[in-house]
Amino acid sequence: MGQYPCLEIHLGRLRENARRALAFFRAHGIEPVAVTKVFCAHEAVARMLFEEGYTMLGDSRLENLRALSGIPLPKMLIRLPMISEAGEVVRWADCSLVSGEETLRALSRAAQAQNRVHQVVLMLELGDLREGCMGEDELLRLGRLALDLPNLVLQGVGANLICYGGIMPSQENLGRLCAAHERMERELGVKIPWVSGGNSSDETLIAQGKMPRGVNQLRSGALIQLGIGLKDRPMPDYHQDGYILRAEIIERNQKPSMPWGETGTDAFGHVPHFEDRGLLERAIVAVGRQDADLDCLRPLDQGVHILGGSSDHLLLELTGDAVGYQVGDTVAFACEYASVLRCSTSNYVKKVVIED
Ligand SMILES: *Cc1c(COP(=O)(O)O)cnc(C)c1O
Repeated sequence: MGQYPCLEIHLGRLRENARRALAFFRAHGIEPVAVTKVFCAHEAVARMLFEEGYTMLGDSRLENLRALSGIPLPKMLIRLPMISEAGEVVRWADCSLVSGEETLRALSRAAQAQNRVHQVVLMLELGDLREGCMGEDELLRLGRLALDLPNLVLQGVGANLICYGGIMPSQENLGRLCAAHERMERELGVKIPWVSGGNSSDETLIAQGKMPRGVNQLRSGALIQLGIGLKDRPMPDYHQDGYILRAEIIERNQKPSMPWGETGTDAFGHVPHFEDRGLLERAIVAVGRQDADLDCLRPLDQGVHILGGSSDHLLLELTGDAVGYQVGDTVAFACEYASVLRCSTSNYVKKVVIED
């Protein structure tokens, strides 16, 4: 079905990111779980992570974990399990993040039915208001339950920050996770191996030497795959162009900057607004919102500017040397997080692994 649009996966750049991140985290006593959701668990990237020495893969989707079953690493389900999928959780994941009693019970039942052991990491709410049980006492109660329930192993405690409430990781909030961990080990009289302290945004706290000492694991996707850290800041020494979307020009015209006729709403129900800048050199490329988040594409060519788009069309303005683009040429865009995610998920976008 043609070559384009295609997502170029620059494996060499990703490998350098992966190597750098692994060395950095380990130098600070933290073992990273390599998160695969942003690239939809593409086999070549996952295999590279294994070759580079990562010891665990994490994904939010069971379909992705199943697709990774050929890679000989333990798998972590990093979205809270659905009770309706408990059987598959236990089958495809070695461990999962859990924040409630009913889910623990369902996992225990499923693990017994399959004669497997399932590891759980109990999540504590630290203020970002996504997943996590409310308070140390509740965490302790869940810990006790996990120890009592057959076929479960209480493997760790964890937390997530930044993703919903925008709350930054800090000495204070991650300190609370470590304190809860210490209390739990003391009161339950068991060793609980992991303190899973969050995601790529922890990088800054670690680099500042402020990460509480108890944290010994984190789950990292964005730093490795996109070279970004806290607040999506591009990290020096990391590649931000590991994933490049290439799409083909299907129309090339000089057209006005202002539409004409009576204005209704655009394809997504918005009333569009335009500024009159006279005639523009315009191109249409064959890619759209089905394939990418158009706000998360950065044209590699300085003379290419994104005007907007719809489900299947991306509209460009061309300036400078880019005016030379013709119908049939391709235009390249570096992808930010949401675009890597969507390009990876879209069946319409071909994936091409490039060794550099
Ligand atoms: C997505 C996710 C991560 C990874 O986040 P990055 O910002 O990509 O490092 C970690 N933990 C959980 C629970 C997640 O959902």
